[in-house]
Amino acid sequence: MTVTPRPGIMDVAAYVGGEAHLAGHNRVIRLASNETPLGPSPRAMEAYRAHAGELHRYPDGGALELRRALARHYGIDADRIVCGAGSDELIALLVRAYAGPGDEVLYSRHGFLMYAISAKTAGAVAVAAPEQDLTADPDALLAHVTPRTKILFLANPNNPTGSLLPAGTIEKLRRMLPPTVLLALDAAYAEYVTRPDYEPGIKLVEAFDNVVMLRTFSKIYGLAALRVGWAYCPPAIADVLNRVRGPFNVAAAAQAAAVAALEDKAHVDRARAHNERWLPWFRKALEALGLTVYPSAGNFLLVKFPDAEAALAFLNGRGIIPRRMASYGLPDCLRITIGTEEELEAVVAALAEFLGHGASRRPAGVR
Ligand SMILES: *Cc1c(COP(=O)(O)O)cnc(C)c1O
Repeated sequence: MTVTPRPGIMDVAAYVGGEAHLAGHNRVIRLASNETPLGPSPRAMEAYRAHAGELHRYPDGGALELRRALARHYGIDADRIVCGAGSDELIALLVRAYAGPGDEVLYSRHGFLMYAISAKTAGAVAVAAPEQDLTADPDALLAHVTPRTKILFLANPNNPTGSLLPAGTIEKLRRMLPPTVLLALDAAYAEYVTRPDYEPGIKLVEAFDNVVMLRTFSKIYGLAALRVGWAYCPPAIADVLNRVRGPFNVAAAAQAAAVAALEDKAHVDRARAHNERWLPWFRKALEALGLTVYPSAGNFLLVKFPDAEAALAFLNGRGIIPRRMASYGLPDCLRITIGTEEELEAVVAALAEFLGHGASRRPAGVR
């Protein structure tokens, strides 16, 4: 006899984050976790440091200042916001609150891995609906809804594919969904989206009682180390999340840094402008090498290789760390974050060498 975890837990392959180190390299180029190359706002760093003398104090468990700052920033209702230790925690809390053994949690085939991981750890069944052209397919998702379906998780834009569904498609999907299924829209990359037909989910949350929007400070705000995310919810769902979350689930210094980051609009604008400039440059450079690059609304590109494992080994040998995609069912692909200009040039140079295109050069006419 021994201690035994609940059913489902041993079926989970633990989430493996992007690598941060490579043996034999002192300096590496980290492009595996969609972190911003601009780093955090100096104002966020200052707010974090300023908190050092208060480390003996418990955080504000209700994260009131942060929720008020978010409410002001987006023109939304602070009472419908629930903060979490990253949006990962909120994903797990939604599953814990709404799905258990015998229930199903639906996601699209190449959706964010944490949906299936959270479902399985709660003893629920993770159901993957097929995609079309590496894009979530609303018809396929609806066809996989059963009376046991409790939550449909949809990242929009999606990580790792970069695909995006326009507002009208999401609205229709919600309309066709049974009212007993919670639609969780994960908008981790919303700030990077430039398409006018995009809506992260705020309007749907305000109009319907079965929609939640998840956001994070880990991506464009550059606070991944601090673990801050938030959910915008119908009142009843906010009430549920506030019951299941830990009383002090977001660290005080993290709350303070997030408020400061939110107020530094210029820093976010710089990060967005950097992405708008270098993502298309990087795409064209990779395409000029003969690689297939999928459309991306985020701060990363999914790239298809003739031999992704060999490309990965070659890049690692140059001190460059992209993300393997086998765990997402995309073994031919690597996902590469939009880094600094120098980092992206190093990737292009390395891949040119790997693919036998000779010395690296800027592709003509893309600058
Ligand atoms: C990075 C990412 C998250 C996780 O964000 P945290 O707030 O750091 O937990 C959630 N969803 C998607 C789609 C992501 O890419």
